[in-house]
Amino acid sequence: MIPGVMEAAVLNKPMDIELKQVPVPGIKEDEALIRVHCIGVCGSDVHYYEHGRIGRYVVEKPIILGHELAGEVVQVGAGVTNVSVGDRVAVEPGVACGRCEYCKSGRYNLCPDVVFMATPPVDGAWAEYVAVRSDFLFQLPDGISFEQGALLEPLSVGMHAMIRGRVNPSDRLLVTGLGPIGLLAIQAAKIYGVTEIYATDIVPFRQDLAIEMGATAVINPAKEDLKERIAELTSGRGVTVIVESSGNGRAIPDALTTVNRGGRVVLVGMPAAKEIPVDINTIIDGEIDVYGLFRYANTYPSAIQALGRSDIDVERVITHKYALKDIQEAVEVARTEKETSIKVMIYPQL
Ligand SMILES: [Zn+2]
Ligand SMILES: [Zn+2]
Repeated sequence: MIPGVMEAAVLNKPMDIELKQVPVPGIKEDEALIRVHCIGVCGSDVHYYEHGRIGRYVVEKPIILGHELAGEVVQVGAGVTNVSVGDRVAVEPGVACGRCEYCKSGRYNLCPDVVFMATPPVDGAWAEYVAVRSDFLFQLPDGISFEQGALLEPLSVGMHAMIRGRVNPSDRLLVTGLGPIGLLAIQAAKIYGVTEIYATDIVPFRQDLAIEMGATAVINPAKEDLKERIAELTSGRGVTVIVESSGNGRAIPDALTTVNRGGRVVLVGMPAAKEIPVDINTIIDGEIDVYGLFRYANTYPSAIQALGRSDIDVERVITHKYALKDIQEAVEVARTEKETSIKVMIYPQL
């Protein structure tokens, strides 16, 4: 039996999150109702919680956050054919129109009509149930956990960074910044066959985790000279691709002057400053390719396959687990304990 009401964590205004009884969402013909098993706390959720806005997206009325989830199908609309009641699924949280030029060319992450969970005014899924259009649901094979399913979302950002940067096994890659996205970009690089993966961060816990998750070596940019260390580590060959995931304003100009000539720089982290001076000559005469990145597209099927590999272990990023009722504490941990927390996971059924 599906109840009429459910618990959901509602952000009333910045720093004010509250557990409320809300109606269980009804489903349309092409949607399925998902009982949420687990759902991550993303950096964007924390940002909305703390500041009430990210760029042009502003929290103007109470909103349910959360968009990294997996769960069980408990109800399907009449037109749904790809999933059935009882299926374990990962949810891709951005539902695109499917009709526009971007969607038709495969770049549906850029769809102007995309409805993305937990992006104001669209509700997310820090709740017991959520309704999702069924073509954005992906069955989890036996042996793939709900947690792995939920982590497909941030892993997808890492996968998309590899696609954007045309990363291949001949590359020597540097990932700057080891939050969840940076760490999962290391896993994505392994999926793409990269064997020399360097990383930077100033926090020892994150450095250690990066090594455990497949980094060849980690550099502390506060204590070591980045370019010198890279030259040492690569026997002078340098790195051919940099995935910048720190969002640190200085990391972007540094990436452009650190990558090899002819190299690629994928910008993932969003710096606080809108304008950052960079050495344009380096880009021009070095033939540096600079790529932006917005979410991801078409990554879930290949990412699910990769999760079955014994050398891929995305769950290592989970450092904390909380019941939905402890959402306030969970978000505070994610917000304030940057030295020891990576991915906080919420369990709405506990
Ligand atoms: Zn996320
Ligand atoms: Zn579209």
